[in-house]
Amino acid sequence: MTAADGSPRPIVFRNGLVLTMDDAHTVLEGADVLVVGDRIAEVGVGLAAPDGALEIDASGGIVMPGMVDTHRHLWQTAMRGYGADWSLTQYFVWYYLEWGKIFRPEDIHAGNLLGAVEALDAGVTTTVDWSHGLRSVDHADAAVDALEAVPGRWVLGYGNIQDGPWNWSTAPEFGDFYRRRIDGKGDRLGFQMAFDVTGDPAFPERAAFEVARDLDVAVSTHSGVWGATGDDSIRLIHDNGFANRKTIYVHSATLSADSYHRIAASGGSVSVSTESEQSAGQGYPPTWTLRKYGIPVSLSMDTSVWWSGDLFSAMRTTLSADRSREHLEAHAKSETVTHHALRAEQVVDWATRGGAKALGMDHLVGSLEKGKKADVVLIKNDASPAMFPVLNPYGHVVFQAQRGDVHTVVVDGRVVKADGRLVDGDTLATAKQEVAGTIEFLQSNLGDAWRSGMNPDVPETKVLDNPYQYTDFASGSTHGQE
Ligand SMILES: [Zn+2]
Repeated sequence: MTAADGSPRPIVFRNGLVLTMDDAHTVLEGADVLVVGDRIAEVGVGLAAPDGALEIDASGGIVMPGMVDTHRHLWQTAMRGYGADWSLTQYFVWYYLEWGKIFRPEDIHAGNLLGAVEALDAGVTTTVDWSHGLRSVDHADAAVDALEAVPGRWVLGYGNIQDGPWNWSTAPEFGDFYRRRIDGKGDRLGFQMAFDVTGDPAFPERAAFEVARDLDVAVSTHSGVWGATGDDSIRLIHDNGFANRKTIYVHSATLSADSYHRIAASGGSVSVSTESEQSAGQGYPPTWTLRKYGIPVSLSMDTSVWWSGDLFSAMRTTLSADRSREHLEAHAKSETVTHHALRAEQVVDWATRGGAKALGMDHLVGSLEKGKKADVVLIKNDASPAMFPVLNPYGHVVFQAQRGDVHTVVVDGRVVKADGRLVDGDTLATAKQEVAGTIEFLQSNLGDAWRSGMNPDVPETKVLDNPYQYTDFASGSTHGQE
């Protein structure tokens, strides 16, 4: 898909339903999106395209900005689905205490490669790799090697759950790594520091925040996680002057009004991972609360060791969880919700523009506007009954479409998925091979713990006595009323 001089060929999406996600949320029917070089050259109806432009028929489809995931532990993709039945405690025991420390650099590479390919395939063009398995710089190099092998837009969130952030962030090799692998790499490889604040009154995390300040990079932190990080963490970050517009608070599901006020006042944002919060128990998915405090929201998938890795799932669960809570709150007051406050349109914004804003990349990506970087997704699947009719485009994206409907993905002006298939199938093949090696390594090291780790004990539950059943005293059993 490149011209003879190596620059990407101009691309024009023709005759689509275009969700620009600009400030006015302009929606254009039967419209074109023209990409020249790495930028969006024009959005409008009946555009003239340069000679030799790649024409993509977007009729019957929805053209939207590439989606942005602000918190994903890509390295854990190597264990896709393994922890489907875990609690958060079981996750912590598995990764933080028992087995996270055996992951080798090649295992980080394997998970990152598969997860990165998966993100592009699902139309997620920018992903924060919240990479907290970097127990050495070799691991970090492996993480970046994998990200650089996949033509998406990445932000490495450097972390290491095996050591205190005040240790790893102040080691000379950390600064060396930043200068060697990240600094000056442009807008396809960004950087954050990813660590949690325990609430220890001594605030040992201060040193790591100071490093972030010196490097002028964002800190992303799991906060408002029931039983792990709470109001003390937010207060320490804020009182010590480290809460700022770049700070991303992941989950923030169980916090006091005071903490939400501190986040809002300092300009921070919250990365909501609804599938995660619903299943792991950080707290109720918080958008219904964040909206009250005016806190900006972005969406994220957290980890494929439990859940899915695409933002269609994030949008759907987030809108549903928000409405579910609104109903419950109303019912508790004997009221009925007659009009929904949160709309599909807002959730699509969170999945695109909201993520770009949270990452300070709003001037580059997150909307389809002239001059922005060309990260474009076409959702179109003529073979799917669910892709017709398209009447309410935002509603369609949130409740009807899914990752299999992602027809074309463009990142930085280059086509990475065309006609429903990844352009570079070789990287996927490599990723599969590497992940198979990691699974073999883990199985041989864990032995019996491999199977038991995947199948935690089920607590005993008793079916309640039912007053509408007759007791058969002779046999001691009960029968339902017939
Ligand atoms: Zn997380």
